[in-house]
Amino acid sequence: MLLFTPGPTPVPESVRQAMATQTLHHRTPEFEAIFKEARERLMKLFGMDECVMLASSGTGAMQASVLNLCKHKALTVNAGKFGERFGKIVTAMGKELVELKYDWNTPASLEDVKKALEQNSDIDTLFIQVSESAGGLRHPVEEIATYVKSVNPNIMIVADGITAVGVEKIDTTNIDALVAGSQKAFMLPPGLAMIGLSSDAVERIGSGVDYYFNLASEIKKQQQNTTAYTAPTTLIIGLNAIFDEIDKEGIDALYRRTEARAKATQSALEALGLTIYPKTPARSMSTVIDDDAEAIRKLLKTKYEVNIAGGQDHLKGKIFRINQMGLIPVNESVWVVNAIEMALSELGRRPFDGLASRTFNDIYFKEI
Ligand SMILES: *Cc1c(COP(=O)(O)O)cnc(C)c1O
Repeated sequence: MLLFTPGPTPVPESVRQAMATQTLHHRTPEFEAIFKEARERLMKLFGMDECVMLASSGTGAMQASVLNLCKHKALTVNAGKFGERFGKIVTAMGKELVELKYDWNTPASLEDVKKALEQNSDIDTLFIQVSESAGGLRHPVEEIATYVKSVNPNIMIVADGITAVGVEKIDTTNIDALVAGSQKAFMLPPGLAMIGLSSDAVERIGSGVDYYFNLASEIKKQQQNTTAYTAPTTLIIGLNAIFDEIDKEGIDALYRRTEARAKATQSALEALGLTIYPKTPARSMSTVIDDDAEAIRKLLKTKYEVNIAGGQDHLKGKIFRINQMGLIPVNESVWVVNAIEMALSELGRRPFDGLASRTFNDIYFKEI
């Protein structure tokens, strides 16, 4: 079965092997060397001054950012499940919330952010997804961050890059915290969350708040190549193995291939007469809105051995999402669009003529 859901993503064989080595104690020079290597590689990938790794799913890092960076009032962008989650965390942590709400196919607008800041001069932190995975939407994060900093450089910008870090190069000039998670673009099993931090963010964190998610105590320990509590050693070993895999061709090659694959997939789907759901598609996944979404998904799983994701909440049964994150063999991506074409033929939508794989190949190999 090909796993083509936008998280979890398949773990490369070499990485699984690296994680199958004997248990290491986390308070040893051996593990500290591994931790140091992972930390340095992460900071380089984030393009940021500091980073922390947390033993939690991505949501833990979202919560840690709310707790440690937002003083009392947050602006959040809700264009899907994950933007909605930032709002829920803000409220659960007892902070004030101003939420910009959008359809799940619609990116946040700079105008709305402007208005919200004018009406609420006490907003101290903005929370936004780079790629909102609920609909496969790309928000104009860099543009919004640049604007917010020009108005008030004290407003912290927290970007959820769980389906964006490792997918495309993100300009972190105006971003203070960039959140990532192991089971999406990092191609690892779930359980490791990572946050890239600006020096301004480190300053804002100060002595930190909370206990388990106190970022000040983590920063202090992690600068010494250890963690405040037991580190997820296996996942950090896996993280270095992922970087080894990526470094074979370099990160820029991964970005280029991901972009080419996303473009080729989108063109192939459109050639079949399908409709791309988001107005500004993220490169992390390809999302189609279609009345037959569930029937297509079911045929893919039962007949063609491809597991793609559906939609949630009001989009349940209405969309399907195809992963583009990670080191995906191109033959697998071609098979996925071909399988969708076969499914459409079986549903009586259009006769199979190989158009999807042809379109994919035309675009992908021209781009690459
Ligand atoms: C998956 C995801 C999360 C949540 O991560 P968990 O690891 O499930 O806690 C947050 N944001 C985005 C954009 C995601 O795709």
